[in-house]
Amino acid sequence: MTSVENLTTEVRLPRRRTRCVMVGNVAVGGAAPIVVQSMTNTDTADHVATAVQVAQLARAGSELVRVTVNTREAAQAVPRVREQLLKMNVDVPLIGDFHFNGHKLLEEVPECAAALDKLRINPGNVGKGKSRDEQFARLIEIACRYDKPIRIGVNWGSLDQALLARIMDENAARAEPRGAVAIMREAMVASALESACKAEELGLPGERIILSCKVSAVQDLIAIYRDLASRCDYPLHLGLTEAGMGSKGIVASTAALAVLLQEGIGDTIRVSLTPEPNGERTREVVVAQEILQTMGLRAFTPLVAACPGCGRTTSTVFQELAQDIQDYVRGRMPEWREQRVGVENMTLAVMGCVVNGPGESKHANIGISLPGTGEAPVAPVYVDGERTVTLKGKHITAEFRAIIDDYVLRKYPARL
Ligand code: SF4
Repeated sequence: MTSVENLTTEVRLPRRRTRCVMVGNVAVGGAAPIVVQSMTNTDTADHVATAVQVAQLARAGSELVRVTVNTREAAQAVPRVREQLLKMNVDVPLIGDFHFNGHKLLEEVPECAAALDKLRINPGNVGKGKSRDEQFARLIEIACRYDKPIRIGVNWGSLDQALLARIMDENAARAEPRGAVAIMREAMVASALESACKAEELGLPGERIILSCKVSAVQDLIAIYRDLASRCDYPLHLGLTEAGMGSKGIVASTAALAVLLQEGIGDTIRVSLTPEPNGERTREVVVAQEILQTMGLRAFTPLVAACPGCGRTTSTVFQELAQDIQDYVRGRMPEWREQRVGVENMTLAVMGCVVNGPGESKHANIGISLPGTGEAPVAPVYVDGERTVTLKGKHITAEFRAIIDDYVLRKYPARL
């Protein structure tokens, strides 16, 4: 029989060569793994609520967390957010998101700049007219003074209008002018690259610059990032802006990011989901991790393979077990990750009947094949491809959890 190890596919996609930028203690770009990041939606001025949400995002697996810094109160709260996080034993790099008044806030509240690990600057709303260059220079001077990296984050909703007008004029003078979509894409890339060039001229080392060009349409995002990646070696932050809510947001983000990641483009990702009412903000972190893990680019937590069910399953037992086991391993991962080496690579299967159940279960590290309609009410369990025990009765969930716990202790060595 083919062993589980032989069936495991290790994905080593060629990555675009980029510079490595340190954001706090997290490396972005170079040979570093693709980093997951997220953003809070609390009022940053409420430093306790913000720290609580940053901690939730970090514990869910966000390796960088961005907070809005839009007012003097928010800027003053940033160091308190940092202190609160230290009290909560959370050490995640914090990024400040600045628009319109960032230069003023950072000058008036220098402890805000000191407490942050990166500044996000949007070149489309740094300032207008003559003030634009001067305010951009003030932001870069602050980044240099405090040794902070920056992300030049272009967004099509706030694209630099003067730059767009210039590119439209240049386009009109061409023998064969390009269409409006191509010009918008060209302007996005130009805004990012010209701003990065200015930042370097002003003294910020290239090793402290990350770029992004976010749009909300999948094909635009792919085209823009392909162009950007071919024209620079700065690390790129990928994300579809305003991706939307629920499955639409997840599908659109996955479609766009997967194409680019497969081409080796992207050093850090964010999935910008609109939370559903009372939904968890951490959903965007889980989705980002699942994109990277299902593509074989990183492993974060064991994922449960489950069949969709069909006319052979007339109860919801296997769906409930699949959900329970996924929640269970996700809940155990913080502890397992600290104590055991490699648990995140464990594969699990929960299957609905004998048609594909045993086969899929054998391909996982641990699999269970529940009985379909008309089958004997027993559930064989497979461990590393071998049938071990057969579960039945009311306690299948608890017994299957115990098998997983035992496997983790036996298979994955303790961290020294
Ligand atoms: S494994 Fe069985 S229950 Fe699941 S989809 Fe296939 S045939 Fe249906």
